[in-house]
Amino acid sequence: MTTLHEEAGKAAPEECCGLLLGHGERIDVVRPAANLADDRQVRFEIDPLALLAAHKAARAGGPRVLGYYHSHPKGHPVPSATDCEHSTGDSRIWAIIADGEVAFWRDSGNGFAPLAHRVVA
Ligand SMILES: [Zn+2]
Repeated sequence: MTTLHEEAGKAAPEECCGLLLGHGERIDVVRPAANLADDRQVRFEIDPLALLAAHKAARAGGPRVLGYYHSHPKGHPVPSATDCEHSTGDSRIWAIIADGEVAFWRDSGNGFAPLAHRVVA
């Protein structure tokens, strides 16, 4: 998932964010979105138009919205208190890039659960 590291690097010291698209449990596409948060160094807010377009494309037969990603330029790849506030329990995947790592979590409705993953070429 080098693309996620590239996105995080480009956005630093601000947080990057975007969508994880794919089929089943497999992420095929990493789609960057604008971060519309006011304080982008510590928060992110995915452009709702990008989200809407992705859901629309999914309904038309495109890849599904499997989850979201964002970076923690100065933190660790674990959900922050703010992230937990934004948890909706929709079972989507949250990828967090920090410390040169990408960690995957599932928004389980009862906080975030770590997710095992492997990179498929
Ligand atoms: Zn976060």
